[in-house]
Amino acid sequence: MSQIYLKTEDEIELLRAANLLVSATLTEIAKIVKPGVTTRELDTLAEQFIRDHGAIPTFKGFPNPMGGPFPASICTSVNDVVVHGVPSDTPLQDGDIVSVDCGTLLDGFCGDSCYTFCVGEVSDDVKQLLRTTKESLYEGIKAATVGARIGDIGSAVQTHCERAGYGVVREFVGHGIGHEMHEEPMVPNYGKRGNGKQIKNGLCIAIEPMITMGSAEIALLEDRWSVVTRDRLPAAHFEHTIAIHHGKADILSSFSAIEQVEGKLY
Ligand code: MG
Ligand code: MG
Repeated sequence: MSQIYLKTEDEIELLRAANLLVSATLTEIAKIVKPGVTTRELDTLAEQFIRDHGAIPTFKGFPNPMGGPFPASICTSVNDVVVHGVPSDTPLQDGDIVSVDCGTLLDGFCGDSCYTFCVGEVSDDVKQLLRTTKESLYEGIKAATVGARIGDIGSAVQTHCERAGYGVVREFVGHGIGHEMHEEPMVPNYGKRGNGKQIKNGLCIAIEPMITMGSAEIALLEDRWSVVTRDRLPAAHFEHTIAIHHGKADILSSFSAIEQVEGKLY
């Protein structure tokens, strides 16, 4: 059993820098997401931007027990793709959504954050899914206080999404983060209040609800990466990396610049 590695204040600042670089990368993507753009173009921009800032895109070459290493610097999951979508030459279309998950390694620490973007004009139903998923992320963050437990986070996310009639994906979860992108503990998007490990100052975790419009059942595509909803209804994914210090959550990544680019979309 590997241990939870609690971070010092100095380490939290290094994690913040890596995460703000992810947020800046996602902001660059926000500026160019529109109908006709390919996810490969988003990937090219992201890789260049990350390397120009002296960091490494951690997703590139990420090993896959089911197949070959991940071929790109970001995951681009379109519509019914829940997570781990592989960038391609297929242009995005008006009404699509695309979740862009991005990871960096900067000065020995990892950044990890994801945002689901609207492409052109998206239906009200889908906007509602995005709104609820993002809200659930912040509900989870609010639950992450010293003395609370990991299950409190999952319970907050699950309650918020299931109340709206959405599915909560079980097979993929949030995680500790530090020198490694995936550390202990696992942070599920479901759970029971009062269950799981206790939250302490210095805990750094990525919380990342993956929420479906319909059933939460998933399937793996032939590329051995793309995870889709079995009913092929859309899914949304938002992720922040947070640090617990001074008793509560400090969000190390940021959506504020992205949301400024987006304007009042939903
Ligand atoms: Mg991520
Ligand atoms: Mg993550």
